[in-house]
Amino acid sequence: MDKAKKGLNTICTHTGSLKDKEFKGAVSPLYMSSSYAFEDVDKKRYPRYFNTPNQEALGKKIAALEHAEAALIFGSGMAAISTSLMAFLKSGDHVVLQRELYGGTSNLISEEFERFGIAYTFAEGMQISDFEKEIRPNTKVIYIETPSNPLLAITDLRGIAQIAQEHGIISMIDNTFASPVNQNPIDFGIDIVIHSATKYMGGHSDICAGAVAASTAYIERIFGLAKNLGGSLSDYTVWLLERSIKTMGIRVKVQNENAQKMAEYLYTHKDVKAVYYPGLPSHPGHNLAKSQMKGFGGMLSFELIETLDASRFQKTLQLIKASMSLAGIESTVLSPSKTSHALLSEEERKQQGINDGLIRFSLGIEELDDLITDIEQALEQVRNKKQIANL
Ligand SMILES: *Cc1c(COP(=O)(O)O)cnc(C)c1O
Repeated sequence: MDKAKKGLNTICTHTGSLKDKEFKGAVSPLYMSSSYAFEDVDKKRYPRYFNTPNQEALGKKIAALEHAEAALIFGSGMAAISTSLMAFLKSGDHVVLQRELYGGTSNLISEEFERFGIAYTFAEGMQISDFEKEIRPNTKVIYIETPSNPLLAITDLRGIAQIAQEHGIISMIDNTFASPVNQNPIDFGIDIVIHSATKYMGGHSDICAGAVAASTAYIERIFGLAKNLGGSLSDYTVWLLERSIKTMGIRVKVQNENAQKMAEYLYTHKDVKAVYYPGLPSHPGHNLAKSQMKGFGGMLSFELIETLDASRFQKTLQLIKASMSLAGIESTVLSPSKTSHALLSEEERKQQGINDGLIRFSLGIEELDDLITDIEQALEQVRNKKQIANL
C-alpha cells in the first residue's frame, strides 16, 4: 500500500514506526547504540550519519507527512536550515530571500554569508514579481517562509515554484508556522521543505529538533554536508519526537480552531487596533492562504490600541504566558520588537510593519473561554492602571 495515500492522523500514528519483534510492544523500540556491527558493507550505521534505526524511521514519517520521498532529522531547526542552504550554495553564488524571515535565519544570513562569499538579496514585497526581479544569473536558491513571522504574510507557493523552475533555481521553504498539517509545499512544486521540529512537531515545549523533507536526490546532497557539519539529533530525542508527532494532527486542529475564534474575537474588540491572521477575510493573504493551506494555523498577531500598554498587558496575563518560542499546547505571547526581531534596527522593523506594540500570539489547546477570560482580566487591569496614572 502506498504510504503517502494514508490520511494525516494515520501517518502521524503509524508511518515509520519500528516493530518491537521481541515483545510486541505498542511503540517503537528505542535503539540508543552509537555502534553497530557491520552486517552488510553498504550500511554503516552511526548517529552522525543520520541512519540509526530510530532516525531512519522518523525520517519516513516526516517524509510521508510532507509528501516527500525522503527526510532528515536534525539537532535543531537552525541546523536543518543552515545545512540545507549551505548544501546548495558556494562562494560566488546568490540567494533570493523573503524579507520577513525567522530572526535566527536572518542572523545566519547577515552574520555568516558574507565571509563565505555568498551574496543575497531580500525581495522588497510579497508579490512574485518582487522575487523574480531579484534573480541573477548566479542565483541558486530562492528561500521563503509562509505564513511569515510575525505578521502572518502569505507567499504564493505555486508562483515561487514556477519562477524557480523557469530559472533553474532550488526553492526552499521554512514550513514551521504552518506545520505539515496545514500546508504541504511539495504539492505546489516547492523543492525543499524545512521545519523547526521544536515547534508544532514537538508541540510540548520540551524538544529542540529540525527536519528537512525533499526528493531523494536533494536529501542525498543535504546529507553529504550534514554528516560533515554533524548536526544530528540524539536517538532519545528522535524517539520523543516520534511520540509527539503521533498527536500533531489533533493538536494542530484544535490550535487552528482556537486561533480562528480568537482572531475573530480580537478583530471586533474595542481595545484592539489590528489583528493579523490569514483566516480573517480582512487579511491581505486570505484568498491565497485558502488556495494553498488546509488550515490557517495556530499563530496570529495583534496590536492593542495605542493608549494601552502592550508590555504591561502581557505581564498581567495569568494563564497565557509571555515567553519565547511558540506552537506548544500551552498558549504564549511575546513582543517581536523585544525578542525575535530585537536585533533589527527600528527602521528595519518599521519597514516590515513590526510596531513596538505588536503582540505575537501562539494559540495552545486550552478551552477558548478560559483564554478569553484571561485576556479580559489583563485588559481590565491595564485600563485601570491607565486611569490611575491619569488621575
Ligand atoms: C523556531 C524557528 C526556527 C528555528 O528553529 P530552532 O529549532 O530553534 O533552531 C526556524 N524557523 C521558524 C519559523 C521558527 O519558528
